[in-house]
Amino acid sequence: MDFRWTEEQELLAQSLAELLQREAPESLMAELDEQKEFPYNSWQALADNGILGLGIPEEYGGTPADILTLTLACEILGKYAFPLGIIYSLGIITIRDILQFGSDAIKAEVLSGFVRGDLPVALGITEPQAGSDAAALKTTAEFDGDDVVFNGQKMYSTLAEISRYILLMTRDPSKENPYQSISMWLVPADTPGLRFNRLSKVGWWTVPTYEVFIDNARVPRKNLVGQLNYGWPQLMANFEIERLALCAASVGAAEGAYEDAAAYANRRSQFGQPIGSFQAVQHKITDMAIKIENMRNYIYKIAWMMDNELPVRHEHAMCKLYVAQAAFEVTDDAMQLLGGLGYMTTQRVQRLWRDVRLMRIGGGTDEIMYNIAGPQLLKKARK
Ligand SMILES: Cc1cc2nc3c(=O)[nH]c(=O)nc-3n(C[C@H](O)[C@H](O)[C@H](O)COP(=O)(O)OP(=O)(O)OC[C@H]3O[C@@H](n4cnc5c(N)ncnc54)[C@H](O)[C@@H]3O)c2cc1C
Repeated sequence: MDFRWTEEQELLAQSLAELLQREAPESLMAELDEQKEFPYNSWQALADNGILGLGIPEEYGGTPADILTLTLACEILGKYAFPLGIIYSLGIITIRDILQFGSDAIKAEVLSGFVRGDLPVALGITEPQAGSDAAALKTTAEFDGDDVVFNGQKMYSTLAEISRYILLMTRDPSKENPYQSISMWLVPADTPGLRFNRLSKVGWWTVPTYEVFIDNARVPRKNLVGQLNYGWPQLMANFEIERLALCAASVGAAEGAYEDAAAYANRRSQFGQPIGSFQAVQHKITDMAIKIENMRNYIYKIAWMMDNELPVRHEHAMCKLYVAQAAFEVTDDAMQLLGGLGYMTTQRVQRLWRDVRLMRIGGGTDEIMYNIAGPQLLKKARK
C-alpha cells in the first residue's frame, strides 16, 4: 500500500494552500463571516486558477481529475477557508448530476459557467414535511405546452437565491411509488414565481440558506435533467461523493482548529509554565491528532474505493458518521484548549465549531447514516 501523493497532487495541494492564503486569508474569512457575506472574490480566484474545473471534462474548460484528487482539494479548501470548502462540496452533487444526466445544451451552459466562476447550482430537495424522508417531497411539475409549471415549497436550499440555477426535485402525485415519481429540473433562480426567505443560522454565515416558495414558476420542458420520474436514482448517483467532499472539508476544518490549539498550548502560560506542559493538555492534543489521522485515512480510503469503482454504500455512511462527529469533537477540544479566548468571536475556532456542527445534520443526519450502514453490516454478517 502506497500512502504517498503523486507529484501532481503534491503540487496541487501546495499551490491551492498558497492561493487560499493569498485570496481567502483568515482575516477576510472572519470579516465576511461577521458581515454574513458570500466570498465572491475568493470564489472567482478558485475559478481563475483552475480549481473549479477539476474533474470537469476539457470540452467545458475543465481538467480531468480523479475522486482522490478532488477529495484532497476539498481537504485543503476546508483547512484554509472552510466556507469555500462547503460551497465547493455542496456543488459537487449538482454539478456531477448535470454532467451525468444533463442534455448537451444544459451541460454546455452550466458546466462552462461553473468553470468560469458561476456559483454551484443550488439543490432543492428538502421540504417542510420532507427532511430525512426526502422522497416525501410534494413540489409538483405540470406540463403546459412546451413549458412545465412548478408549485410547492423548498426548505434549507443553500445558495438558492444567489446561484444562477436551482436543481429542483419534483414529484408526480398520481404515482404511488415515490422513488419512481421524482423528477429533476434545472430552474433559473430568477424565474418569476420563485420567492426566497434567507434563514438565520448558527453557523455557515457566509453561505446563505433559504426557504423557497414556488408559485406557478414556469420553465421550458427542455430544462428536465435526465429522465422524467428517474430523478431519485439520479440524485442518489452522486450523494456518496457529496458526502465524501463534505467530510474532506470537515477534516480540513479540524486540522485548522488543531493547529490553532497546538500553537496556543505552546504560547499560553499558567501557573508559571506553558499550558502545553500539563499532561491533561498533551493528552487532548494527542487525541485530537489521532482523530485527524483516522478521519484522513477514512476519507482517502473511500475516495480510493470510488476511483476503483468499488461499492461504498455502507462504508461512505460510516465514514460520514465518524468524520462529522470526530471533526466536531476536535473543534470542541480546540475551543476548550483556548479557554475563554476560544469562546471569543475573534477566534477562528469558534467559527469552525459553529460551522462544523452542521455536518452531523446536513447531507443526511448521523441517525440516517446509522440507518444506511447498520442493515448493510448485518446483511453482510449473514452471508
Ligand atoms: C444549513 C443547512 C443547509 C442545508 N442545505 C440544503 C440544501 O442545499 N438542499 C437541500 O435540499 N437540503 C438542505 N438541507 C437540509 C438537510 O439535508 C436536512 O436538514 C437533513 O436531511 C435533515 O432533515 P430535517 O432537518 O427535516 O430533519 P428531520 O428529518 O425532521 O429529523 C429530525 C431528527 O429526527 C431524526 N430522524 C429522522 N428520521 C429518522 C429515522 N428514520 N431514524 C432515526 N432518526 C431519525 C433525525 O436524524 C434528526 O435527528 C440543509 C440543512 C441545513 C440545516
